[in-house]
Amino acid sequence: METTDVAIVGGGVIGSAVAYFLAAQPAFDGAISVVERDPTYSACSTTLSAGSIRYQYSAPVNIEISKFGVHFLANVADYLSVDGEAPALDFVQGGYLFLASPEGVAILEANHAVQRRHDAPVALLSPAELKERFPWLEVGDLGGGSLGTAGEGWFDPHALLHGFRRKARALGVTYLADEVTGIERSGNRVTALAMRSGARLACGTVVNAAGPRAATVAAMAGLELPVRPRKRIVYVFDCRAPVPDCPLIINPNGVYVRPESGHYICGVSPPAAEDPDTLDLEVDYRWFDDVVWPTLAARVPAFEAIKLVRAWAGHYAYNTFDRNALLGPHPEVANFLFANGFTGHGLQQSPAVGRGLAELIALGAYRSLDLSDLAYERWGAGRAVREVNVV
Ligand SMILES: Cc1cc2nc3c(=O)[nH]c(=O)nc-3n(C[C@H](O)[C@H](O)[C@H](O)COP(=O)(O)OP(=O)(O)OC[C@H]3O[C@@H](n4cnc5c(N)ncnc54)[C@H](O)[C@@H]3O)c2cc1C
Repeated sequence: METTDVAIVGGGVIGSAVAYFLAAQPAFDGAISVVERDPTYSACSTTLSAGSIRYQYSAPVNIEISKFGVHFLANVADYLSVDGEAPALDFVQGGYLFLASPEGVAILEANHAVQRRHDAPVALLSPAELKERFPWLEVGDLGGGSLGTAGEGWFDPHALLHGFRRKARALGVTYLADEVTGIERSGNRVTALAMRSGARLACGTVVNAAGPRAATVAAMAGLELPVRPRKRIVYVFDCRAPVPDCPLIINPNGVYVRPESGHYICGVSPPAAEDPDTLDLEVDYRWFDDVVWPTLAARVPAFEAIKLVRAWAGHYAYNTFDRNALLGPHPEVANFLFANGFTGHGLQQSPAVGRGLAELIALGAYRSLDLSDLAYERWGAGRAVREVNVV
């Protein structure tokens, strides 16, 4: 049987970020293995995501996580260069624009106060100010908007994932193309992974980074996790009329849109009653026809005449408890660590979460940024993180 010090189940952006930061951590000199069932990454959340980052959260820990995320993306060459070559992230700092109805303005203002306390560069705009800045925007039904004025934007998720992976490997991390099918325990310790190939891997610590399949992996160790796969669809369209300086717009009903390499991408999360647990990737055009396009056409008249080009579906690892990350050790099985339940914001959280879990493993505590608000054990304690801005 092979042996490793830290075994990471899942080599998507989260597993690869943990692997990179741990390998780069001077206090750690153990062996790190990442087990990934699909090295093409064709169906993982990371590859299929909308690739965006924002400061505009209501929970302080999420704002602080994004501050490191923006710093990391803007300085990625300092972290992830291999042989002088940095990942080409195509990071566009185009900003998020959260729009609110007159009734929703109070929430926008409360969030703004929290964001400013954490030095996030955001500005509240009245309908008249919105119109002046974005003349192509319909503002008649709005009470206001909140605009990210620096840092927020979008980038290539695949390039970030491969940047973490390439650098992790350059630092000595082993990637195994295999599927974890069982986790062995001896009392309150996990001791080994069993793999589809028949191989077994003895390990000192296990990190669950299995994305939408995280609850299945936790169950292999006899542990529970309130994370389920939920489908989200991204639609791509062309628009001939110019919409200059278009940020990532979030409408009051949750419909989002942003520019993407000469096209636009858009989507919406379905209501809870129509949001089943599923691992299928079939695209349903009903949401585009019934909700997304009518909302966009009313908000931006230029979007009345658009051409749908294509669409894809991916999975949120949806935290049914409070829709935020669940991090760190199980309270009883202390060498099983979670990095799960990111819902719609795991890509942008990967730098801070990778760094944080690496500190937990190597140093026994968070050092750079305290992520303990997001501890796995808050679920058992019924201590929900209140985050109103989940898209
Ligand atoms: C449509 C959509 C839009 C999104 N938009 C954004 C956004 O704009 N910004 C943002 O920050 N986030 C966004 N997200 C969320 C983000 O993509 C995820 O939170 C993030 O990618 C999670 O990364 P992960 O590594 O946990 O999961 P994944 O990328 O799914 O990686 C998990 C890996 O684990 C592997 N695995 C699973 N089980 C096993 C096993 N038993 N053995 C071995 N390997 C296994 C899988 O093959 C997979 O590669 C979006 C998601 C979707 C679906």
